[in-house]
Amino acid sequence: MTKEEEIPDAVRYKEEFYDKYDPKEILGRGVSSVVRRCIDKLTSQEYAVKIIDITPSDKTTPQEIEEIREATTKEIDILKKVCGQNNIIQLKDCYESKAFFFLVFDLMKRGELFDYLTERVTLSEKETRSIMRSLLEVVQFLHAQNIVHRDLKPENILLDDNVNIKLTDFGFAVQMQGAQKLKEVCGTPGYLAPEIIECSMDAGHEGYGTAVDIWSSGVIMYTLLAGSPPFWHRKQMLMLRMILAGTYDFSSPEWGDRSDTVKDLIARMLVVDPKQRYTATDVLNHSFFSQYVVDEVRQFSPYRRFKVICMTVLATMRIYCNYRRAKPVTKEVIKSDPYSVKPIRKLIDACAFKIYGHWVKKGQTQNRAALFENTPKAILLSIAGEADESIHHIW
Ligand code: ADP
Ligand code: MG
Repeated sequence: MTKEEEIPDAVRYKEEFYDKYDPKEILGRGVSSVVRRCIDKLTSQEYAVKIIDITPSDKTTPQEIEEIREATTKEIDILKKVCGQNNIIQLKDCYESKAFFFLVFDLMKRGELFDYLTERVTLSEKETRSIMRSLLEVVQFLHAQNIVHRDLKPENILLDDNVNIKLTDFGFAVQMQGAQKLKEVCGTPGYLAPEIIECSMDAGHEGYGTAVDIWSSGVIMYTLLAGSPPFWHRKQMLMLRMILAGTYDFSSPEWGDRSDTVKDLIARMLVVDPKQRYTATDVLNHSFFSQYVVDEVRQFSPYRRFKVICMTVLATMRIYCNYRRAKPVTKEVIKSDPYSVKPIRKLIDACAFKIYGHWVKKGQTQNRAALFENTPKAILLSIAGEADESIHHIW
């Protein structure tokens, strides 16, 4: 199914949904939606259904319900416009009743990029390149139609069986008309572009456009490589200030192993001025994406071959001398500064995520960055802090 007209009209009745599908366990939740696995009764094919609640209740005013209804209708419209792109989730079917919307999608069994990253702690440059290339191709495709996603984050990027990405959650997506600028403040705090925050502070702001998706993509790219996001503070106000000033660095130990090329690309995406920020096409043309392209095999002359042999011998000698000078990892180093030893650092991070991963999941005030302070002591403190916050939250 690739074209708009192949998706049935939105307004089909709820009963028809239950006639056709059997809803199963919950896969994820949003503010006003629940996503469940479901099975097509006729074909036994599995899908995911996003059920959006539009029932009036004590918590929601009729006006809010109307807003959710309008937003969902827009989400369906955009999903229909963008279907057919390989890395965008496919809307298969949709139904509406007085109480619910049902949006049926292809099921992504491997879940969110967020969970994949939590499992891995950090990703290699090679894997980051493959994920980011697909993501930027989607962004380029959307921007070519003047569509802004406005909520790019690892929770909204799903993975298929072969770890190919599928972008989902077009709940904030909008198609701009001509040179229209947007002013609405929406998105997720850690991924917000500075110009969106400025709009919330200044009624006379000129507005923002597609460049906000590039900023969020830069935040995602940084997070995949470092394991923790570039802008984070326990106090949200301070985090927003960091974003406005574009204050972030490559100082955490993980960056020691990363190439200058990848840092250069991130730095061109996380530019505060949207006019100076790279576009999706600029990003895809950056040398980070053309690395590791296999050159055609060339025959070297005897002189070139001799030169390469000499250089290899010299390089080997240099590596050997450096190795001799390197400080051995002693018990003392491990006791006093275990986080400085890479394999131990990786082990600590992986263990912290295994045990405390549930605290970093989703909540707006909680964040995986809390587990990445640079000392084991700070890790313990931040874990204790999160635990404390969770306990307060429960009470
Ligand atoms: P919301 O707008 O409420 O955030 P999303 O569309 O992002 O809703 O879905 C919420 C969560 O449900 C996702 O983050 C993901 O964990 C899960 N989910 C959504 N769609 C699918 C799908 N097609 N396959 C598997 N899981 C999904
Ligand atoms: Mg979402």
